[in-house]
Amino acid sequence: MSNESITRHRRGIGGGLAFVVSGPSGAGKNSVIDRVMEELSGLSYSVSYTTRPPRPHEIPGRDYHFISKEEFERLIAAGELVEHVRYLGDYYGTGIRQIEEVFARGEDVILNIDVQGAKTLRKKGLSHFSVVYVFLAPSSLARLEERLRARGTEDEEEIRARLAVAAQELEEIPEFDYLVINDDLERAVEELSGIVIAERARIVG
Ligand code: 5GP
Repeated sequence: MSNESITRHRRGIGGGLAFVVSGPSGAGKNSVIDRVMEELSGLSYSVSYTTRPPRPHEIPGRDYHFISKEEFERLIAAGELVEHVRYLGDYYGTGIRQIEEVFARGEDVILNIDVQGAKTLRKKGLSHFSVVYVFLAPSSLARLEERLRARGTEDEEEIRARLAVAAQELEEIPEFDYLVINDDLERAVEELSGIVIAERARIVG
């Protein structure tokens, strides 16, 4: 009897899957991602670079690599970022090294990026790795507004700006592979976990 591995037919065997979780600011991407990472093994978070100042509860190196505008521009010039955006006056970007390190460990990576960044990645791809695009949003703009106000990390002007950006971002939903509605955290966690599990079980074509 041949001892050939049957699981090798599954896409999720040696890592190398990238889950891009995108959607408007305030959609709850961080909370949903944190919970999914607690529940599933073999998933690593890609910590982005940003020039925005840390919020009180944020930890450098865990939530973001907080760097200066000059340092960020150096990373762009050195080709160290797979994508970057300027969002409401600050830079945000994804480092190629972080992703490669996760894949080298045989794990899958989860990226929390804005809709524009997801669009750039879709155009460029991530060399020979598979990328799954997930859009996460509450069920309406009114709910998003409630969430942003409840979060209390932005002033009125910033909330208005984020809502205006969000209205445009919703237009991009048809470009994504999956839509997760986050009105209820438990439900959203279940849905995103389900997507990761299903994609890992997909047969390599
Ligand atoms: P916040 O300031 O609320 O942490 O993030 C603002 C927006 O930037 C969020 O929608 C977040 O997903 C996005 N973002 C965070 N990191 C990156 C990144 O590396 N690239 C891109 N394109 N967007 C990012």
